[in-house]
Amino acid sequence: MGTARYYDGESAQSQTVNLKIAGGNLLILAEGAGEQLDSWPLKDLRLDPRMPTVPVLMCKHEAEARLELTDTEILESLRELNSSLKKKSMSKKKLGILVSLFVSVLIFIYFGVQLFSAQIARRIPFPIEQKLAKKVNIEKQFDSCVLSLEQTAALDKLVASVYPALPGDSDFSINVQVSREKIANAFTLPGGYILLTQGLLSQAESPEEIAGVLAHELGHVQHRHLLQKIIRGSIMVSLVNFISLGPSGMLLIDPGTAAQLLLLKFDRSMEEEADQAALLRLEEQRIDLKGFQDFFKRSHPELPSGLGFLSTHPGSRERMELIEKNILSEMEAREILTPEEFQALKSVCL
Ligand SMILES: [Zn+2]
Repeated sequence: MGTARYYDGESAQSQTVNLKIAGGNLLILAEGAGEQLDSWPLKDLRLDPRMPTVPVLMCKHEAEARLELTDTEILESLRELNSSLKKKSMSKKKLGILVSLFVSVLIFIYFGVQLFSAQIARRIPFPIEQKLAKKVNIEKQFDSCVLSLEQTAALDKLVASVYPALPGDSDFSINVQVSREKIANAFTLPGGYILLTQGLLSQAESPEEIAGVLAHELGHVQHRHLLQKIIRGSIMVSLVNFISLGPSGMLLIDPGTAAQLLLLKFDRSMEEEADQAALLRLEEQRIDLKGFQDFFKRSHPELPSGLGFLSTHPGSRERMELIEKNILSEMEAREILTPEEFQALKSVCL
């Protein structure tokens, strides 16, 4: 029926043999004279389970002897006679169930993490977030201004007017910096970094405006919004790695990914949560909400000032309404900076 390479299991030498089927046996015959070297019962034939590239046939009762089937047609013929040599193919139904089970588990993990990212983020100690900030070299991601003593004192006083102010404030720390950007904007970065742009300070019409923006960014820090985003982003990367590389892929962290995560934008619910936290903080500290409102009125796209803050902070109209609702409450506002201190702050980076 064809030829194969035969290893008798006693010497390392192999020889080309002819194969023949007779009386329920596979006969292994030497080339040429046709001397019978071995006879393997068809029912005892097994394929080498190590699955080498060339199929290797073995006999149940002869542990060492091997037949390398270079001619695959022989194997096909033998499969007709011995069903145990047939490829074990999973039924389509079974495969379908397995695939849908796998997909369900992935979806469950994905949405579970999405759903519980806030709880997960809150359970991660703040020092770990600070370590992450250090790992991605956060301070090198922006060009911060050097402040004069007078400007530093004014900024410190403004920061102190909103932080610490609430019971949970001791759970995290903040580091407020001013960047050279001319567009009025503010950012929250990992590890409690809050970046106010020079444009935000110079365009502010009152210290309360800056305090309001700062209180909003503090809301993002206290609710660990950035970490939530990172967790959600990482699980997606991990799942993609899992699918493409197997379980070990979940442990891979692309160094570029960490830096990209800094560019993540907060979603609407996070913005609302930060606003609520800001209003609570400002009221607690008796800071006039009018400043916060003025800022958002000026940054609304329908207004000509068109400040860039809006692009990262959607839903200004709803936020303005929220502030208006709160502004009506009786509140005796206090002065947070003297006019001189405010002027010093406005001149930062100029
Ligand atoms: Zn925000």
